[in-house]
Amino acid sequence: MPFDLGYQFSRFNSSRPGYNGTSLQAAAQRFPSDDACFEHVMNVRQFAFSVCRKCGKEGRWHRRGDAKYVQHPCGAVFSPLAGTVFHATKLPLRLWFYAMLHFANSSEGVTGGLLQRQLGISYLAAYRMAQMIRRHMAALEAGAAAHCADHKVHVRLEILHHVRGTNNQSSTANVLFASNGSRVDTSVLEEPRRHQVKSALRLMHANGPWLTTCYRTARVASAYGSRRPLASYAPSYFIDHPAETDLISGFMSYFLWPFQTNHKHVSRTHLWLYLKEFQFRYNRRNRSGETYWDMVNAFPVISGASSMPEQVALKAS
Ligand SMILES: [Zn+2]
Repeated sequence: MPFDLGYQFSRFNSSRPGYNGTSLQAAAQRFPSDDACFEHVMNVRQFAFSVCRKCGKEGRWHRRGDAKYVQHPCGAVFSPLAGTVFHATKLPLRLWFYAMLHFANSSEGVTGGLLQRQLGISYLAAYRMAQMIRRHMAALEAGAAAHCADHKVHVRLEILHHVRGTNNQSSTANVLFASNGSRVDTSVLEEPRRHQVKSALRLMHANGPWLTTCYRTARVASAYGSRRPLASYAPSYFIDHPAETDLISGFMSYFLWPFQTNHKHVSRTHLWLYLKEFQFRYNRRNRSGETYWDMVNAFPVISGASSMPEQVALKAS
């Protein structure tokens, strides 16, 4: 039994909501070996019986030994790990699943240094692993829209300080937040400009009507000339609607402290990844026991997985 902590796991299931299935033992029981992890990825990606790209036929894909690829009866070879969070990894899959458990259970985020110590791998490997897992979380978050049909979308533009710029000097970044009352979405803007706010909201699938309680956001989104303002300005919205929570403020207070301590001087290029990592956990705050299982029950193809993470360019449209 891996990670034998010397107790009967089943006897210590927590009755506290959000604490069941979050333990090392729960993860180890589900994924006891590298083979179990590999089988799981294959099943999740529905690879086992998929049509072969080479011969166009169905048929059982076979795995030879502990290889990280599978073979079709026609001889075609394919890796179910290609393009996913595990792209081109030389590390055992169990280390990845273990690292993801850290990401799911942490409230302050996971640093490369922590993974380096816990997993006993080089800092570079740990850093790359952390960035890939963040990209994985970002890809999973991309599917879930902030839009909600019967709800106004609350938007706010914030300035984050101590972000490392391109010339290695401390600088700022403009981050756009959107919330529909149940979840928060984030986007890093190159410039605080109206057209960038507009295209960012479109990318977030946060369809209007938009409203903001922040004067600066209202100014940026407002009509210079004769254009209609993007967002209506309602400074007392949350005072007038006491039943609704200001999720953007909630997210900021969740994100800012770790950002200013654990993740000091994140570069502007990578800032979006850290925001998405925290967003992933924050949006599951009411069902945090599922955070880990959400992370390991879908393995979307990460665009450009072979290269290092880059900011998704938000160009003017
Ligand atoms: Zn084939």
